[in-house]
Amino acid sequence: MGEILPFICGWALLFNTYLLITLIATHIISTILAFMPCMGQPQPLALQQQSGDTFTFSYQDENLATELSLVANAAHDRLDEIRAFFAIDNKKSGDIYFCRDIETFSSKLQFEPPVWYNAVAQQDLNQIVVWVKPEQSPAQIAKLLNHELVHWALFELPPQAREKIPLWLHEGLAEMWSDRGLAETYNVSLAWEAKHNNLPRLNSYNTAFGNEPYRAAVGYALAKEFVLFLNNKYGDELFKQVFKSMAAGRSFDQALVDHTGFSVVSHEKIVRANLNSWWRVIQEMYPHFFFLVVIIILGLVPFVAARRRRHKQALHDVWQREEDEVDLMTGHGDNIGNE
Ligand SMILES: [Zn+2]
Repeated sequence: MGEILPFICGWALLFNTYLLITLIATHIISTILAFMPCMGQPQPLALQQQSGDTFTFSYQDENLATELSLVANAAHDRLDEIRAFFAIDNKKSGDIYFCRDIETFSSKLQFEPPVWYNAVAQQDLNQIVVWVKPEQSPAQIAKLLNHELVHWALFELPPQAREKIPLWLHEGLAEMWSDRGLAETYNVSLAWEAKHNNLPRLNSYNTAFGNEPYRAAVGYALAKEFVLFLNNKYGDELFKQVFKSMAAGRSFDQALVDHTGFSVVSHEKIVRANLNSWWRVIQEMYPHFFFLVVIIILGLVPFVAARRRRHKQALHDVWQREEDEVDLMTGHGDNIGNE
């Protein structure tokens, strides 16, 4: 008996030490795996749907859900900012669907979209459908979604107001909030079009932008230019007031006259005149032109300064030489006088 007890105690101690070491090892391994997700166990399947205040998100595949989780998480905050900008307090709920291919995009929309379509907000189907192209980053998708969220917020306006918003105004407001980059994709220069007298009228985009991508891109850019002009000239409160008047029965044109004193056509004339300038053409075609000019000027400063310094020094040398020569001829007598 006297020999068995220390034997059992010894084994118990050894077993405890073994347990402790296993515990520590498991902890270390799981910590390492937590920081290296690709090397760990296969991740649990991404949620096909996530619910929020307003939107239910769904994805064509699980990778999209993981890739766009940050974009989806930010959507409600962005929508609240947009609602605050337009003073909208009614909330409309719906679905946001992210898909990978044109077939799914088109079947979700229930129509064949023009080639330049990338995302659509549909009031009647209560949905926003985003086609995530392989080359598009999550940041680009976020911009696209934020653009669609402006359409969504405008769907939440009282019917009297939202039904009287021309399509170009819908797009102009959405582009002011989040430019989806259409003008860049199709190399649109509004100033070039204005110079060549090819700038379409805003009212030609009242109900549709058409199938032709370049013309649609010009329409988006022009609508954005117009809305930005109004917003810069009259401030952030203008559209709140205009929509309030529209909810009370005024048309957009009447509401604009009420709050600014000028109609759409009068404002459009000013915008078109501003665009009709070669200076603006250079700015639009060479957006880095001015930056380059500034860099060149800054780069030249030391050379010009050095040249001026050398020129001054040369003049000084000539003057000094002439002085010395005069001193040599007359200086002797002066020196004697001073002594
Ligand atoms: Zn849009």
